[in-house]
Amino acid sequence: AKAAGRDQMTLFDRALSEKKLAVSRTVERLRGAIDRDELIVYFQPLVRLADERMTGVEALIRWQPAGETMIAPDQFIPAAEDSGLIVPIGEWVLRRSCEVVAEWHRRRHAVVVSVNVSPRQLRETDFAAQVFSALRDSGLPASALILEITEGVLVASGMVTDQAIRHLETLRGHGVKVAVDDFGTGYSSLAYLRDLPIDHVKIDKSFMPGPSAEPGSDGPDPAARTMVKAIIDLAAGLKLGTIAEGVETREQVDLLRELGCDRAQGYYYARPLPAGDAAKLLTSAEWG
Ligand code: C2E
Ligand code: CA
Ligand code: CA
Ligand code: CA
Repeated sequence: AKAAGRDQMTLFDRALSEKKLAVSRTVERLRGAIDRDELIVYFQPLVRLADERMTGVEALIRWQPAGETMIAPDQFIPAAEDSGLIVPIGEWVLRRSCEVVAEWHRRRHAVVVSVNVSPRQLRETDFAAQVFSALRDSGLPASALILEITEGVLVASGMVTDQAIRHLETLRGHGVKVAVDDFGTGYSSLAYLRDLPIDHVKIDKSFMPGPSAEPGSDGPDPAARTMVKAIIDLAAGLKLGTIAEGVETREQVDLLRELGCDRAQGYYYARPLPAGDAAKLLTSAEWG
């Protein structure tokens, strides 16, 4: 049994070091990606549920190395975070997103843009200054920018980090909005909503109700409906806006409207799109 245990350890170690190797290879290739123009920002519409107009977009990064298929963020954001590369990459996404949406504003489509911010970025002492610089250089009004943070951004080993809070307070003081992303997937979320400097809650897609499993019943799964309703009511009580993500069906849209959710985002309306395609939606009669 002892020998078998040792063999397993060896296999485990080998798997671990192969994984580490893969991560460091990714990091090496990613390092030059900005300079090689391989990073792209896609934009997914945010739809106001009251009238189903497109009132914003979420900026979502893609990586397109020359001659290869496009790489989704889940395949490289973790490595970018581990290595610290997320700091220059995140700043690039921010600047690019502000530029694109400022151009839409100049064409009289005054939508908001929501940009994902990694914990590492908020630990930089000059993060707020980076955001102000991106706004100034692009001409985008501060009120048109939402920064999406996850609960993890604000907590390092159980402690809310002062630096992150100070950045968010400074930014909000100038009109920038803050949204808690993937709400409900972490823990101690309720205290965060009360204590943190935030404006919106994004309801994680794992909460979107599927059809009911109850035989003979139509309508959404009652447990999922209860969860979504609780989050929306809680946010409303705290005067926070609500954005539902991962909305894929008309039934989900109808339920979210009934429950008073402000905005929705998901494949039901549109996938993340290149800037030009998102801009076309803004000018179309159905959306704009
Ligand atoms: P996220 O911030 O939760 O973004 C939402 C993800 O859900 C996106 O995946 C989006 O394409 C996907 N999605 C949108 N609508 C639907 C739907 O109806 N159904 C389903 N099943 N999925 C939907 P994506 O673009 O692959 O991004 C994955 C994650 O990568 C993001 O999750 C975010 O955590 C991270 N990410 C993306 N861009 C950036 C970035 O610029 N900076 C940082 N730090 N993270 C980013
Ligand atoms: Ca997000
Ligand atoms: Ca999310
Ligand atoms: Ca997510």
